[in-house]
Amino acid sequence: MLQAEEVTKTFISNKKEITALERVHLTIHQEEFVSLLGPSGSGKSTFLRLVAGLESKSGGSIRLNGVEIEGAGRDRGVVFQQYSLLPWLHAWENVAFALKKTMGLSAAQKKEIAYHFLELVGLKGFENHYPVQMSGGMQQRVAIARALVYRPKLLLMDEPFGALDAQTRRDMQDLLMKIWAEEKCSVLFVTHDVDEAIYLSDRVYVLSAHPGRIAKELTIEMRKPRDWNDMLTEQFLHYKREIVSELERQKSLQKQALEA
Ligand code: ADP
Ligand code: MG
Repeated sequence: MLQAEEVTKTFISNKKEITALERVHLTIHQEEFVSLLGPSGSGKSTFLRLVAGLESKSGGSIRLNGVEIEGAGRDRGVVFQQYSLLPWLHAWENVAFALKKTMGLSAAQKKEIAYHFLELVGLKGFENHYPVQMSGGMQQRVAIARALVYRPKLLLMDEPFGALDAQTRRDMQDLLMKIWAEEKCSVLFVTHDVDEAIYLSDRVYVLSAHPGRIAKELTIEMRKPRDWNDMLTEQFLHYKREIVSELERQKSLQKQALEA
């Protein structure tokens, strides 16, 4: 469904070239949940922004259902770590705001759609709250509802739970699994939390230290839906060992490169 081939991205900064991504190959199948892990600065966010169409690549191709990505589009929903809600709008208005540009929807229809997605993320009854009246987790639920209004084929999430406390984070992970099962969309999920990646994913990619290349790809063969018991199994630990050892390897390579 998503096919990235030989994707390269270089930035020019202070007249110096920075290669953020080098020949990255990555695929996401229909209804697949794929996580992208890697050391800080390995290009995870850059890759997600390329897929979102918020940034243009320097080389290679990224196709969504066969069509080269040229810019942002409604077939992709994006959620970032910062909730980025408009503080002067109610929760439902923040969601409906994403529908602003759609022609032919009445105000009542927009409200109905917003209410539907707020219910999906567990915020029934909070439609008329302002962001400041909601916790971080609740605000991120609104951001997820907003990303879903066009029923995107692909949901792109960049460390969406990174700013939340541990318990809220666990709740959000389970919520996301539920949404993914109901909406039947594909997900590209950027995180630096290994447990989170294994818990949620069908497949995990690990990027190498700067510049980002695919260092490892791992299929997580555990039945879904999963619950906390699955995190205590030998199989889970096996995946964790594989990923952590690759991340450690990347860190020491990076250290060697800095010392050379
Ligand atoms: P990650 O999300 O894995 O931490 P990023 O994708 O944010 O990594 O960054 C990858 C590399 O690209 C880093 O070296 C970063 O400094 C560089 N980079 C990212 N965005 C820009 C930009 N707009 N201009 C210059 N360099 C950038
Ligand atoms: Mg990042």
